[in-house]
Amino acid sequence: MSTTDFGFQQVDERDKARRVRGVFDSVASRYDLMNDLMSMGLHRAWKAFAVVAAHVRPGQQVLDIAGGTGDLARAFAQAVGPTGRVVHTDINETMLRTGRDRLVDAGVVLPTIVCDGERLPFASESFDLVSVGFGLRNMTHKEQALAEMARVLRPGGRLLVLEFSRVARPLEKLYDFYSFQVLPRLGRAVAGDADSYRYLAESIRMHPDQETLKAMMKRSGFGHVDYHNLSGGVVALHVGIKC
Ligand code: SAM
Repeated sequence: MSTTDFGFQQVDERDKARRVRGVFDSVASRYDLMNDLMSMGLHRAWKAFAVVAAHVRPGQQVLDIAGGTGDLARAFAQAVGPTGRVVHTDINETMLRTGRDRLVDAGVVLPTIVCDGERLPFASESFDLVSVGFGLRNMTHKEQALAEMARVLRPGGRLLVLEFSRVARPLEKLYDFYSFQVLPRLGRAVAGDADSYRYLAESIRMHPDQETLKAMMKRSGFGHVDYHNLSGGVVALHVGIKC
């Protein structure tokens, strides 16, 4: 049996996706509120930075993977305008439905597709930009997912990976206290679910750090990869250019 990490636990590889689905089914209805509370609103600035770094132009084709409640898809839809297209996708129907309702309420109607980032149902070289915001961490076969993202990008297209990463050393103690003492309590109080927020903290620790992810992207078909640390490395934005 091959195993993989689910937070700090080792689980059967075939079981991780089901467990991740359980986490996001449980948090979907409170996801946006919790994002604002947990990050003290900072997730909005991290996403805004990613959108600026994307340099998306009117008329371009964008794929948002693990798009959840649609923050990135919505911003990209504005940038590509009526001649472009943003496809909003996620493996989790509950998250995607919540996102689609939110987008429609904001007057944004996008193609919405349930799909796994590890097996994308799109033709090769069909997008100018692929984004994955806080989603790669939850995938079982990360290099396979990165290779799929490379496959659907046209040569010269960009991949943006916005993800929690390794914090700067002086912040470590405070960040650990916040992650393991405050977050689960906040999760219990607001979303009635401490375990999902404990998983969040653990999965961040298990995710590859900045340099490791950069090397993984290079091995997966990206000729040039750069990253930007945000908020002292709490989050990193990796930008890969497909060769
Ligand atoms: N991108 C959104 C954002 O930044 O607010 C949502 C991020 S949420 C933390 C992570 C999302 O990843 C969830 O909606 C989850 O369903 C999705 N996800 C997990 N595994 C996935 C996979 N294998 N393929 C596609 N999406 C996946």
